[in-house]
Amino acid sequence: MRFVPWQYIADWKCVACGYCCKLYSVVLGFPEWLRIVKTFGVAKTVADLNHLYIKRTNDGSCSFLCRFANTYYCSLQNMKPDACKLWPFKVLSEPKYGQAHQAAFNYGRKKLFIYADAMCSGLRYGRPTWEFNFLALREFADLALGTRKTQSKTTSDLAFASRFQVRRLRLP
Ligand code: SF4
Ligand code: SF4
Repeated sequence: MRFVPWQYIADWKCVACGYCCKLYSVVLGFPEWLRIVKTFGVAKTVADLNHLYIKRTNDGSCSFLCRFANTYYCSLQNMKPDACKLWPFKVLSEPKYGQAHQAAFNYGRKKLFIYADAMCSGLRYGRPTWEFNFLALREFADLALGTRKTQSKTTSDLAFASRFQVRRLRLP
């Protein structure tokens, strides 16, 4: 993984390519695991000695990943794990991945450090736009600090066939 400080990113929009849901295992907090087990059964999860995870299919994808044409969407919307809501960004209290000045983000009186995983196809590099800086990153910070649960700017807004009655693709 290579992490890029947010000040090198002009904008980010999830293009619903599904890479993140195919490549990574999703670690669940206990309340997240419990909600999934109560709704879908324990077989949708796995555990090792240290963590609880969403089960992956034989090709390595998350078992809640669905495909429509060449786009992918998450079928776990109302209980999507926090790790998925935050991806591809890391919101940290310390500049863990370096370049502290470029990663610094003012959040009220707090100073946070925000990086993005460079493998995400939705990143566009350059000078940050106003919307990315003040709306999208703010929402990621709110989600990371637990002051917000619902996603608006931090998920895909690709139009989806109305006959499926899904107005927004939401990944991750
Ligand atoms: S977050 Fe990035 S890698 Fe994941 S589906 Fe969206 S564009 Fe693709
Ligand atoms: S966003 Fe949804 S489909 Fe993707 S890894 Fe998370 S739970 Fe699975």
